[in-house]
Amino acid sequence: YKAFQDEMTKAGIHLIDTPDHRTPLDGDQQGLHLTKSGCQGFCQMGPLVTILPQNILYCKVQAVDVPEIVAETLVKGNILEKYLYLDKSTGKHCHGTDDIPFYTRQKRTVLANCGLIDPESLPEYLKENGYDAARKAFCDMTPAEVCKQMLESGLRGRGGGGFPTGRKWEMARIQPGPKKFVICNGDEGDPGAFMDRSLMEGNPHCVIEGLMIAARAIGADEGYFYVRTEYPLAVKRLRKAVEDAMAKGILGKNIFGTEHCLTLHVMEGAGAFVCGEETALIASIEGKRGMPTPKPPFPAQSGLWGKPTIINNVETLATVPLVIRDGVAAFRADGTEQAPGTKTFALTGHVLNTGLIEVPMGTTLRHVVESVGGGVTHDNGDPGGTFKAVQIGGPSGGCLTAEMLDTPLDYESLRKVGAMVGSGGLVVMNDHTCMVRIAHFFMQFTQNESCGKCVLCREGTKQMLALLDDIIEGNATAETLTLLEDLAHAVSVGSLCALGKTAPSPVLSTLKYFRDEYEAHVFHKT
Ligand code: SF4
Repeated sequence: YKAFQDEMTKAGIHLIDTPDHRTPLDGDQQGLHLTKSGCQGFCQMGPLVTILPQNILYCKVQAVDVPEIVAETLVKGNILEKYLYLDKSTGKHCHGTDDIPFYTRQKRTVLANCGLIDPESLPEYLKENGYDAARKAFCDMTPAEVCKQMLESGLRGRGGGGFPTGRKWEMARIQPGPKKFVICNGDEGDPGAFMDRSLMEGNPHCVIEGLMIAARAIGADEGYFYVRTEYPLAVKRLRKAVEDAMAKGILGKNIFGTEHCLTLHVMEGAGAFVCGEETALIASIEGKRGMPTPKPPFPAQSGLWGKPTIINNVETLATVPLVIRDGVAAFRADGTEQAPGTKTFALTGHVLNTGLIEVPMGTTLRHVVESVGGGVTHDNGDPGGTFKAVQIGGPSGGCLTAEMLDTPLDYESLRKVGAMVGSGGLVVMNDHTCMVRIAHFFMQFTQNESCGKCVLCREGTKQMLALLDDIIEGNATAETLTLLEDLAHAVSVGSLCALGKTAPSPVLSTLKYFRDEYEAHVFHKT
C-alpha cells in the first residue's frame, strides 16, 4: 500500500480522499482512490491488486513491481500480462474476477464484499446497502417475525453443528426478559480454517449487522464479539467498526429512531480451542476458566450470567443480513432443501488454487477440488498430482477418499460418510501423504487442547496419541490397532463436549478408509 502511495504521488497522480471509493468525483476533479481491501480469497496468487472500474486483477505483486504498474497501467492504461492470472487449462491470461475460473466457479454471496470494500470504512459498507437489513428488522418487523423468517429460510449454523438458527433464536425469544445477551463466536481455531477471520477482517460491519438482527430477534440489549487473540487485525477492525457504528447512531441508544438500545463489546479470547464450545465461551467471558458444562440448560435458556443468550458463529451472522434483506426465496435459491444457502471453505493442502472459497451447499467435493481448486498438485506445487484424500471439518472431521469425491457438501451427506461440514476447513492430500501421520497430527492437536475435565478425553486422547506413536515408530502389534479402535469409540462416547466426542474422528475415518496404511506401519511394510 505504502509503495503505491509513494509511487502514485511521485507520478503526479492525485490521491482522492473520499469516504468511499464509489463516490463520484465533483466536476473536473481527477485522480485515483487508493484503498486497502480485505481478503479476496485467492491466497495462492496474493498479494493481489485490483484496478477498478476495469476489474483488472494483478497477482503476486511485490513492492518492486509497483513503479512499473503505476507507470504502465495507471498512467498509460496498458495491461501488463505478466501480472495477470494464467489459466493453465486454456493457456490464456484472465483479466479479473469475471474470467478467472477460481472465482467464476464459486457463488460468492456472503463473501461478495470481502476484498471489494474497505473494511475500515463505514460509508463503503453503507453504499452496499449496509445496515438496510438491520433497519428492516428493527423498524418493520417484530421479533417473532424475524425469528419466523430465519426459521423459514432454513439457515443452519455454519460453525459446525448445523443447528437451525431460527430455532435457536426462537428458543431465546420466548424466555422471560428483560436481560438477554447475544454473542458472536469468533474463536475459530481449527487447523487450516480461516473463514471467520477473513470475514471479520474483510467485512466487519456485516457481522455486526447480523448480531444486531439477532439482538432484535430475541430482545437483547447487550452483546459480545469473542475473538481469538491470535486475530489482532480482526479485533482491531471489529473495534473500529463498532465505534464507527456507535458514532453514526447505528448502535447505542434509540437504534434507527426506535426505543431499542444495543451495546456491543469486543473481547479477546486467549486462544483455547475449547472456548469455541458455547458453554466454555460463556465461562471465559464471565472471567472463569474456559471449560464446558453439561447441556441442558442451553444458553438460549440460561447463558451468560444466567440470562438467555444466543451464540452464533461469524459466518452464520454474516449470512443473516442477506436472509432478512433479500428474503427466504432468494436465500433458498442456493443450496439444498435441508441445507439452503452457501458455505465458505478454507481450501488448503495439495491443491493448485488454495484460498477462501464460497459455494452453494450441496456442491460436490469434486467440483471444489478439481474445478475451483484447479486440481491436485505434486509435493512441489506443480499440477498433475494424484488425489488421495481430503480432510474436512478440521480435528472434529474425517478423511474422505477418491470414491467419495461426488459426495455433496452438506450436513447429512457428510455425516453419512463419517465426516462433517465443521466450520469449513478442507485440506486436500496427494498420494504421497501418510494418513497415519495425518491422524496423529489431529490427535496431537485435540490432545493439546483438551481442557482436562473428563477422564476419557484427557487420558484417552493421550493414550490414543501414544498408540499412534507406537504405530509410526514401528513398535506396534496387531493388537495395537484393536486397542486404538476401542479407545477411540470409548472417548467418543464418554466425553462431555464436542471436542472430546469428535476427537477420535480423524483416527476412526482413516482406520476405516486407509486401514492398509496402518497395517503397513504395524507389519513394517513401509
Ligand atoms: Fe474438556 Fe474434553 Fe471433556 Fe470437552 S470432552 S469438557 S474438552 S475434557
